[in-house]
Amino acid sequence: MTQRRTRTNLVHGGTHRSQWGELSEAIFLTQGFAYDSAAQAEARFEKAGPDEYIYARYGNPTVAMFEERIALLEGAEDGFATASGMAAVSGALMATCKAGDHVVAARALFGSCLYVLEEVLGRYGVEITLVDGTDLDEWRAAVRDDTRAVFFESMANPTLELVDIRAVSEIAHEKGALVICDNVFSTPVYSRALADGADVVVYSATKHIDGQGRTLGGVILGSREFIRGTVEPYMKHTGGSMSPFTAWVLLKGLETIDLRVRAQTATAGEIAGRLVGHAALSRVIYPGHESHSQYDLMTRQMGAGGTMVAFELAGGKEAAFRFLDALEIVLISNNLGDAKTIATHPATTTHSRLAPETRASLGISDGLIRLSVGLEDPADLVADLLAALAAS
Ligand SMILES: *Cc1c(COP(=O)(O)O)cnc(C)c1O
Repeated sequence: MTQRRTRTNLVHGGTHRSQWGELSEAIFLTQGFAYDSAAQAEARFEKAGPDEYIYARYGNPTVAMFEERIALLEGAEDGFATASGMAAVSGALMATCKAGDHVVAARALFGSCLYVLEEVLGRYGVEITLVDGTDLDEWRAAVRDDTRAVFFESMANPTLELVDIRAVSEIAHEKGALVICDNVFSTPVYSRALADGADVVVYSATKHIDGQGRTLGGVILGSREFIRGTVEPYMKHTGGSMSPFTAWVLLKGLETIDLRVRAQTATAGEIAGRLVGHAALSRVIYPGHESHSQYDLMTRQMGAGGTMVAFELAGGKEAAFRFLDALEIVLISNNLGDAKTIATHPATTTHSRLAPETRASLGISDGLIRLSVGLEDPADLVADLLAALAAS
């Protein structure tokens, strides 16, 4: 049969039907599996074949369907589903590294990722070097012969700077380091990370993959050897596996992700176009707008600007708070990738634990707002944002 295209795979890929022929994917809410005989149990513990399960922490039919479908979308050989995005990030790193290893990471990271690198890996004797992810000279200077892995968010939170996946992968591979890319902000719809040279891609499925605010989840994607040989033994024994119910929610999320993310991206572009040059704003950041300093890199690496827009109110924190409190449709929250448009004030919420100097060096000013664009009517969103800016 000819190879199926992405949107077909998102609806049908990875589906395994039970003897009942159910149309929608079944939720196998079972922690264990019964064997026909003692000999069958023995054989399965020795080596479980495809569609042979032992215990839900090791694998489950609904979870396997999700893994197969998201791997098809990413163009990865295999994937391991995890209980949350952080279980994916920590699992990929902890399964890879041992005491004495060196890891280089981009400094602009989700707070929990920074904690895993500096506090957790640090405690186990892994040395961490943080670099400016956009500066290839810093990557070149930091990656060494004993560097085991490099880690970065391909689009940084909340300032939407891109890391050049192809260039950083080349630098890392020269020294034999594994490239682990947290691709949440770039989204699996626009990801070309593996084709660009990353070895491993991790997602918080909580974001665009569910996209409807219902569940936590995550996934680690890469070669079959890495996923089954390195990740699976670590995850199945340490307990960060995904629940079957979560996998079912996310299978349904994948059916619509392409439509949702493309619609959200179109609206994000429209909003950015309306905000650029607004008198109340000192800065508008959208990778899909020609004013973004990495517009060319975005075009090559993603082909679209994504669902996030950031902007800075010239009046600082007071103006930012007045703006947030005046919004009527857009919600104040810290989730992202959701059907509902969400505004976040990073300096006082997601990034409040960083020292003020660190925030400043990352470009997170007191007037900065991060907007995750949802599925509402674009005209209603523009009207809500402009009215709130007027009130700020
Ligand atoms: C949300 C997020 C995570 C963590 O995911 P959870 O599902 O909340 O555990 C990791 N990295 C990035 C970039 C994120 O946005």
